[in-house]
Amino acid sequence: MGWSLPIFRVAGIQLRIHVTFLLLIAWLAFGYYSEGGSAAALGRVIFILLLFVCVVLHEFGHAFAAKGFGINTPDITLLPIGGVARLERMPEEPLQELVIAMAGPAVNVVIALALALTIDWHAVMEPRVVESPNLGLQLLAMNVWLLLFNLLPAFPMDGGRVLRALLAIRMPYARATQIAANVGQGFAFLFGFAGLLIPNPFLIFIALFVYIGASQEAALAQMKDVSRRFPVSSAMVREFRSLPEDATLEEAVDALLATSQHDFPVMGDNGNVAGVLTRHDLIAALRRGDPHIRVGEVMRRDVPTVTTGTRFEDAFRIMQECHCPAVPVLDSMKRLVGLLTPENVTELMMVQSAMPRRRPAA
Ligand SMILES: [Zn+2]
Repeated sequence: MGWSLPIFRVAGIQLRIHVTFLLLIAWLAFGYYSEGGSAAALGRVIFILLLFVCVVLHEFGHAFAAKGFGINTPDITLLPIGGVARLERMPEEPLQELVIAMAGPAVNVVIALALALTIDWHAVMEPRVVESPNLGLQLLAMNVWLLLFNLLPAFPMDGGRVLRALLAIRMPYARATQIAANVGQGFAFLFGFAGLLIPNPFLIFIALFVYIGASQEAALAQMKDVSRRFPVSSAMVREFRSLPEDATLEEAVDALLATSQHDFPVMGDNGNVAGVLTRHDLIAALRRGDPHIRVGEVMRRDVPTVTTGTRFEDAFRIMQECHCPAVPVLDSMKRLVGLLTPENVTELMMVQSAMPRRRPAA
């Protein structure tokens, strides 16, 4: 996630803090300072830091539950609406998603119960100590609030994931996600509307984050769904130029400038794909300035190929794993018939969201 600063690493998980979270702390501290002076502001900042610890523990609840299903969490980012634990992959089983989603709020329940047991309720109830609010009681209230807020059935809150998992038991994953995302956007409008009426900038802020989170979740699920249903042949580049292995760099430069292509499949003498010449490698070779270098000497040879029938999902994974800018597509006779690039994937998504009922080309 952009605009976030790394704080520390625990158990292989990088904790990051989003700049908007720092802005929130600064805004709250300034508000209390202008009301009650520096002592009040300091007390508030300590409270916010303790609250921050509760949010972090909540996210670690998700991360450890995911670990139980063999899913790692590369990082946790703290946002003003709470934390986001980025799992390396989403669980395939709805029930696993349910357990992971519930693990965070469960941590808040444990914290709230622990606080409820340690608070001296007699002292709290005494009217004469009301002038200095009890820190434990405030934290208890905040944990209950965190719990209820997170259980709202709206993406990207945990309740939204619970809702999707429950729906996904009975219907396709993409449809379940779309419904949960729509509910999330509905809540975002409610928060935004309430924020304007009261008026409360923090609520408007929350509304914005919830809306963006819900949209991202829906786009991700759609991507997964589309990439599963479509074969590579439905979106590969069919018109492209290739280069022979013994072409000069001069010829490669011509091809680069004359087309909008960045990366060129290189054909060996036997007519098979020998590798891919990327723009990056071509420019690096030009810097060395030797006019006798041939394309075959600077191309990448370790590039995997896919076939027209490969599912998009698998091809996309192969492309990410090899860090290839373009993957050659072969037909059943091992002839080069296409190229798959990250732009193809984006375009297929755009077409699919404009025409949701479009079926894969035969
Ligand atoms: Zn959570």
